[in-house]
Amino acid sequence: MTGLLEAANLVRRFGGLAAVGGVSVALRRGCLHAVIGPNGAGKSTLVNLLSGELPPTSGTIRIGGEDATGWPNWRFARAGIGRSFQRTNVLRDMTAMENVRLAAQIRGTRARHLFRFAGSEAGLRRAAAALERVGLGGHASRDAAILSHGQLRQLEIAMVLATDPTVLLLDEPLAGMGAEEAERIATLLRALATDHAVLLIEHDMDVVFAVADTLTVMVDGLVLDEGTPAHIRGSARVRDAYLGHAA
Ligand code: ADP
Ligand code: MG
Repeated sequence: MTGLLEAANLVRRFGGLAAVGGVSVALRRGCLHAVIGPNGAGKSTLVNLLSGELPPTSGTIRIGGEDATGWPNWRFARAGIGRSFQRTNVLRDMTAMENVRLAAQIRGTRARHLFRFAGSEAGLRRAAAALERVGLGGHASRDAAILSHGQLRQLEIAMVLATDPTVLLLDEPLAGMGAEEAERIATLLRALATDHAVLLIEHDMDVVFAVADTLTVMVDGLVLDEGTPAHIRGSARVRDAYLGHAA
């Protein structure tokens, strides 16, 4: 079965450093695929490659079987690849709804198409549905500035959903959250994985092992191991190189 998004032997160098040194992943609808690894492992760079934010130095990316290697990022967005950023992207003096609508307009659209979509009914409906889906339906007209940290991260997910993606690439969407908020988002991610392919970058091992169907463990730009949570838990390679330090 072909995945919605498949990458083979992706390499991204920055000068002499191979931030991503030959990584292959296949993301499928219905599957929550977590990528874990210590800081500097290349996780965010991988997301930047998979979303077309950065071109790979070598390797290939296929979307729905089509070769997307070297496409500009707006073509990735058009083809259904949605991503959130590790650093927050929310404009605080705009409402939740305005943030979602703006994100949907900018990410999925070439500049010359922007204004055609801006006032559209379809855009408004999609934004409202995205806010509803993440549990912010009652906060649409609130300024982002007064949302809690957890609500801001929910808003960021709504901003991705409003682009109508098939694949969600989420770079640390739980960062800085309390346990209760994190649990709410983890539940949301599980629900989103029923009708999307989800790639999740997350540090909290309890959350990762609870929600992931499959895991890729990266260290120094390379895949140390991959497989089910049970496989990764039992992996001596992972324990020695990574989990041992985190514990
Ligand atoms: P992670 O998200 O796993 O913490 P990153 O992908 O952010 O790791 O970074 C992997 C490595 O690549 C780090 O050594 C980082 O300093 C380097 N790196 C990331 N982006 C750039 C860039 N734009 N220019 C130069 N080096 C970068
Ligand atoms: Mg990162």
